[in-house]
Amino acid sequence: YLTTIRQDLAHLEANQEPTGDRPMDGFRRIVASGIGYCYTPGDWAVRDLDLELASGEVVGIVGPSGGGKSTLVQLLSRLRRPDEGTILVDGVPYGDIDPRAWTSQVAVVPQEPDLMEASVIENIVFWRQGISRDRVDAAARAARVYDDIAQLPNGFDTKLGPGGQGLSGGQKQRVAMARALAGNPSLLVLDEPTSALDIDTEALVRDTIRSLRGRVTVVVVAHRPSTLEVCDRIVTIESGRVVADRRNDGGA
Ligand code: ADP
Repeated sequence: YLTTIRQDLAHLEANQEPTGDRPMDGFRRIVASGIGYCYTPGDWAVRDLDLELASGEVVGIVGPSGGGKSTLVQLLSRLRRPDEGTILVDGVPYGDIDPRAWTSQVAVVPQEPDLMEASVIENIVFWRQGISRDRVDAAARAARVYDDIAQLPNGFDTKLGPGGQGLSGGQKQRVAMARALAGNPSLLVLDEPTSALDIDTEALVRDTIRSLRGRVTVVVVAHRPSTLEVCDRIVTIESGRVVADRRNDGGA
């Protein structure tokens, strides 16, 4: 037990929330060099991985289950910090960036939308200051969920049950996307659900990604071939490493 506690404490220490004070307002390039991460010491989920993201690119991450895709996107979004290697944002180590600036610039849409028991608008605003009603509407439109919300009994003020009860799975996914977009992020990280979404939602999410291209950098863990159609680049991760990184010239 003591060994486990010591390992857990060391891990916690290595993964403290960063407390930098550097500003961030968009970026040109994010460069991950030689990054590695272990959940248990000596067992590398991601190892010696290099990846560069240019502003406005849509990058699809593919690869076998257990290959390290989720770990990689959690590292890129600073939800976990690498045990090895560096991630630089225009030359600045990302741990040096003010956490408030970082969270306002980087949005994550998880596989399972984590909606709360609250109104739709509260779910989109999510306690952030300065998100106006206009911004909420624009985000809901961008996430292709505005009309669905408008048709609810009380529109944006409709109360949802625990976990977003009252919406379909696809609507929850799009509300989670609206929450992410309401903050005007410069990096959007999307872990595509493995569970089937309705065909309409799949197409709508693709539309959203397509419309962000060139303005927002999107990293999407893609479980569907159709998602790859909208990617500028497709990166394959296997055994914690990049094994292929190709341009998707057919992307549109
Ligand atoms: P993918 O997203 O490609 O399926 P993951 O990043 O989830 O891959 O997993 C990479 C490796 O890390 C796998 O060996 C997996 O078992 C391990 N792993 C993932 N999450 C955890 C965790 N929370 N605790 C321990 N090991 C984990």
